[in-house]
Amino acid sequence: MEDEKKRVIEKLIREGYIKDKKVIEALLKVPREEFVPEHLKKYAYVDTPLEIGYGQTISAIHMVGLMTELLDLKPGMKVLEIGTGSGYHAAVVAEIVGKDGLVVSIERIPELAERAKKVLKKLGYDNVIVLVGDGTLGCKEYAPYDRIYVTAAGPKIPKALIEQLKDGGKLVMPIGRYLQELIVAEKKGDRVEIKKVCPVSFVPLIGEDGFK
Ligand code: SAM
Repeated sequence: MEDEKKRVIEKLIREGYIKDKKVIEALLKVPREEFVPEHLKKYAYVDTPLEIGYGQTISAIHMVGLMTELLDLKPGMKVLEIGTGSGYHAAVVAEIVGKDGLVVSIERIPELAERAKKVLKKLGYDNVIVLVGDGTLGCKEYAPYDRIYVTAAGPKIPKALIEQLKDGGKLVMPIGRYLQELIVAEKKGDRVEIKKVCPVSFVPLIGEDGFK
């Protein structure tokens, strides 16, 4: 399995999805097989989304790598994730922000949040807090955040997420319903600068400031 993991990560480097040493090391460290259902473990290092139940998926490895790379993370940062899913992406981010950093992750499906919480605890990720709720409203309790990322596609950037992002902070999320685009937004005072990255395909962001 370790060989398969190395091979897929080397492929992502060759294809240009990842180049930051911190992202590469985090992807090499986190055991994706722990985050997928038992019967899919043999596919853990196939670079594709996999079903995790409740109509949801764990994102493909290249997408986790690309989004993490775009977040431009540094040790000690406080990060908000919307859409915990399996908890895999949160673990990758937690590896980079380290013990002095924090990942706050919100999931709307309680059963998924519970499962992710258990796996993250078992693997020792004490710097991840998993909460159940509507992530389109963010989480005021730990705001402001250095970085925010959303792992489901919404109609626009939720207003609360812009408010809870630090000045100079970055947000990565897919926007759109059928035709979706991955974007990076940077908060610069009252302005939000948006850069389009590439077309993507994500499950919908369902909530008060998302799709209904
Ligand atoms: N990051 C995940 C991983 O590593 O497995 C993949 C997440 S999956 C592609 C997207 C997740 O977003 C789903 O689990 C879905 O239930 C969740 N979601 C959708 N709308 C949400 C909302 N408003 N708040 C929180 N989670 C939401």
